[in-house]
Amino acid sequence: IPTEQRRWSWVEIDLAAIRHNVKEVKRRLPTGTRLMAVVKADGYGHGAVPCAKAALNSGADYLGVATVDEAIELRENYVNAPILVLSQPPETAIPLLLAYKVMPSVYTPDFAISYGEAADAFGVRAPFHLAINTGMNRIGVNHDEVVDFMHAIGFHRALDYVGTFTHFATADHEETLDFQIQYTRFAEAINALRLAGIDPGIVHAANSAAAIRFPDAAFNMVRLGIGLYGLQPSPVTRKMIQLKPAMSVHARITDVHFPPIHEGVSYGLHYRSPGNVAICTLPIGYGDGLRRNLSGRIDILKDGVRFPQVGNVCMDQCMFEIDMRRTSLHRVVEPAIGDRVTIVGRSGDAVVTLDDLANILGTITHELAIGFGTSRLPRLYV
Ligand code: PLP
Repeated sequence: IPTEQRRWSWVEIDLAAIRHNVKEVKRRLPTGTRLMAVVKADGYGHGAVPCAKAALNSGADYLGVATVDEAIELRENYVNAPILVLSQPPETAIPLLLAYKVMPSVYTPDFAISYGEAADAFGVRAPFHLAINTGMNRIGVNHDEVVDFMHAIGFHRALDYVGTFTHFATADHEETLDFQIQYTRFAEAINALRLAGIDPGIVHAANSAAAIRFPDAAFNMVRLGIGLYGLQPSPVTRKMIQLKPAMSVHARITDVHFPPIHEGVSYGLHYRSPGNVAICTLPIGYGDGLRRNLSGRIDILKDGVRFPQVGNVCMDQCMFEIDMRRTSLHRVVEPAIGDRVTIVGRSGDAVVTLDDLANILGTITHELAIGFGTSRLPRLYV
């Protein structure tokens, strides 16, 4: 039985949107700038393997992941592009890096030397990217210590230094001072390496926000995460580039009730029927990424019309209200079990975006996309 017939709630991923987003971002960059598609956390919930393939087919050159297991999943699905793990894995994972030809980010001499020695024992090279801390203070060799670091590990013959990167903490902020400080520290570190006769290889710093806002500060490669999936990395980029959101979330009505006036709905019975409403149940809840804090604060789209979600969102289900007194106004026909609705996406002229939900919750779209996409919901590629 196909996935969409097992459950009346699902996520749709539009791979044409992924291809569009890669091309749009790449078009704005100086010619020759490479693009890393960041597909960690199962492609931000969109499916790492199909999204990596769509990105590579439309101009991406590199893939970025967070963990060795994410890299192995790509390799086991016949993805041959260069893959960088965007942090330094535990030394115990080194044999897997070598076996699957996956590059680590490196920032401690101990890791670098173990990696080099293991590669020597296998008779292969040990390619890596150097991570530099320029101000986010998350991972990396401090920006003013990179030459010493490279001298400390440079003796190891198997180590193959192929790239250098940093990560911006505020590329999405309107105010650019902190961005500029990080950018300058990074440029100086790259310069210091070159002056010391050390080739930094592929140099990269920009995430989606920086790639879109500051294409001239892209060095040799950008790392496109959230923008790949068509979500705006910042309110600032909204006017700069047309991205197409790849994810939408849909369901079908599983039950319909017409509770009398003052009758309650869902856990706590906090919502009370004003009378003359249809309460429609959907098989999607906080166990599927529809966060409980959204209860009573979102709209459900049906036939191009917005209807309020009412009552607490349950683990596997939630309810929305159709005001039957407004049926003539909206040409709403009586809802029936099996009717299709949209929770995130477009229905006629009505749209609910992940941005809308993120704004209600005071979070970012990354978290919501991963919440829906890595939940129990079946994922359909359209
Ligand atoms: N590079 C690194 C090191 C990251 O950790 C991330 C994600 O957080 C990205 C790039 C992609 O960032 P974004 O999703 O903002 O494009």
